[in-house]
Amino acid sequence: MNTKSIKIIAQLSEGGSMRAKHFINGQWLDAESSKTFTVTNPATEEVIEHLPAGNKLDIDNAVSAAKTAFEQGVWPTLTGKERGQYLRKIAEIITRRLDELSALEVLDNGKPYPEALWDIEDTAGTFEFYANLAEELDEKSEVGITLAEEGFSSKAIKEPIGVAGAIIPWNFPMLMAAWKVAPALAAGCTMVLKPSEVTPLTALALAEICQEAELPAGVLNIVTGLGADAGQALVEHPDVDKLAFTGSVPTGSKIMAMAANNIKNVSLELGGKSPLVVFEDTDIEKAVEWIMFGIFWNQGQVCSATSRVLVAQEIYPQLLKRLTEEANKIIIGSGDTHGVLLGPLVNAAQYDKVLSAITRGVDEGATLVCGGERPSTFESGYYLKPTILTDMAENSWIWQEEIFGPVVCIKPFESEEQAIKMANNSRFGLAAAVMSKDLKRCDRVAKAFRAGIVWVNCSQPTFVEAPWGGYKQSGIGRELGEWGLNNYLETKQITRYESDEPWGWYLK
Ligand code: NAD
Repeated sequence: MNTKSIKIIAQLSEGGSMRAKHFINGQWLDAESSKTFTVTNPATEEVIEHLPAGNKLDIDNAVSAAKTAFEQGVWPTLTGKERGQYLRKIAEIITRRLDELSALEVLDNGKPYPEALWDIEDTAGTFEFYANLAEELDEKSEVGITLAEEGFSSKAIKEPIGVAGAIIPWNFPMLMAAWKVAPALAAGCTMVLKPSEVTPLTALALAEICQEAELPAGVLNIVTGLGADAGQALVEHPDVDKLAFTGSVPTGSKIMAMAANNIKNVSLELGGKSPLVVFEDTDIEKAVEWIMFGIFWNQGQVCSATSRVLVAQEIYPQLLKRLTEEANKIIIGSGDTHGVLLGPLVNAAQYDKVLSAITRGVDEGATLVCGGERPSTFESGYYLKPTILTDMAENSWIWQEEIFGPVVCIKPFESEEQAIKMANNSRFGLAAAVMSKDLKRCDRVAKAFRAGIVWVNCSQPTFVEAPWGGYKQSGIGRELGEWGLNNYLETKQITRYESDEPWGWYLK
């Protein structure tokens, strides 16, 4: 464990400015029950922290603080410009603490340090971006409407939805928090955030940052805990007007059913099994690198990972050979070790899940080209070699289901038509990618994909300005850009009768 991480954990355990408590109404509050859950370092399997397992009472307290901050005008009545200044301050503090927050993310999630640094820079960038949108909202939140009927005038205004709940996963902990907190606060909503129980530490750091930025009490509240307790209580709470969820399809489905009880506005960012189609005119080295980035980055624990690779049969043998050579060269190790590009998987449950998925794939007929096992150099830590599988059937479990690990499935194709058909043969539709020197072909294929995010001649680069979200079972709604802000805004029409005379329906 590096010295920065030790310092932060000490702050939590010994009651420093960051606390192993809930952050409610601007204060660090003891939990309503003494139940705790453990947080583990995936590189060593050591328990690094015990945090309060929040329950319904903790969620009630947090929602009540958020509701008071919303209804008593602490936050929504500020101008967009004023809200933007708070978001900008949060971005500045994150930027000042980049190194320390990145070290904390490595410790909690296992990802290699350069990736953690990238995430935290993006987290600051997300707050900065929504600071700008908040400032523009003052002028953009009202538009006139042209009516066909004379004697009336109408306008549409945008208003914050109210109290928002956010539930996030463990793969990009602080960045996923920012994707929800920043647009919600920019819109004028107040929020209760429940981070993943697997990686809650940077969310607590965010609470501390909000304190330093002097964010008004109750605007952002953070309750740590398990999905079935704190998470469910947040989804079911009648005073939560909007619920933004990122996580797996099974949990998303439960959340949608729970939200139906009080017609809560939900947005869902769920899983995927995204295709990457490589045509025969693609430079093989370029293809190999993007295939690797598309599946080995963040240990393959990426919702948009291009985990199904379709390769034109003319270049399939050569590409598979080069990909295998390069996959075998990836340096595996603890995320805080220089040069490491593949860290451990996030925890024992995920490790077992990925290993059993590989076994299931092989049992149903796939060929294991490389990987599929722990590197012999590690005695502890959830390490897994980069894994390549081929020869699976198109309807096989391994080709159709999300594995969420450094495991890529590869198949050849014969024609553009067949590639598109195979790419779209999935219940998911989060992302897709195409590689070819023929940009007209890329454009054709990009439009034919049934997916919300399409990359051309690359895979994964994500920009805060562009919409993010899935087709089919990969979700409902869009995050990032203006779309992300609209997630937290209601639209109201205000229509005025302009005459001084009675309308004349009853009174002639
Ligand atoms: P998960 O669904 O197990 O958990 C996500 C969150 O939901 C956690 O905070 C968990 O505590 C909470 N939760 C669990 N059960 C709940 C319940 N009954 N009620 C309320 N909350 C509950 O997902 P995960 O394993 O943390 O994350 C991996 C999944 O997230 C993958 O499927 C991945 O594709 C998806 N993901 C999607 C995106 C996207 O943008 N589309 C981004 C990142 C991750």
